[in-house]
Amino acid sequence: MKIPTHENKFLKNCLNCENPITDLTEDHLFCTQCGFPIRNECTGTTKFNSGYAGDPVEHDIEDDFYVLNPEDAFCPKCGSESLFNIKSLINVQYPRVEIIDPEPVRTLNDEDDLPF
Ligand SMILES: [Zn+2]
Ligand SMILES: [Zn+2]
Repeated sequence: MKIPTHENKFLKNCLNCENPITDLTEDHLFCTQCGFPIRNECTGTTKFNSGYAGDPVEHDIEDDFYVLNPEDAFCPKCGSESLFNIKSLINVQYPRVEIIDPEPVRTLNDEDDLPF
């Protein structure tokens, strides 16, 4: 589903409270009614990420911010979650999940259970 935006990728309506967005000032990035972001961007940039240990900046340092389409759940450049994704403003078809290695459950009696 395409989410309607203005030319500079600002939402036409806030995805959280549906407040119409008419203020297109470049650095006005949040809904004035509910405080949710009104433009989607990558969270792997220096804006969200200071780059200290365990918190790597995925983008080149000159990518202070990186604007995405509102329906993007992940950044096409670095694969980080989008801002709208982490704020749960969009439906994410394939959310990133923690891969937990399951302990293989095997018992020594497996051979006795064979059906033939
Ligand atoms: Zn809002
Ligand atoms: Zn990115």
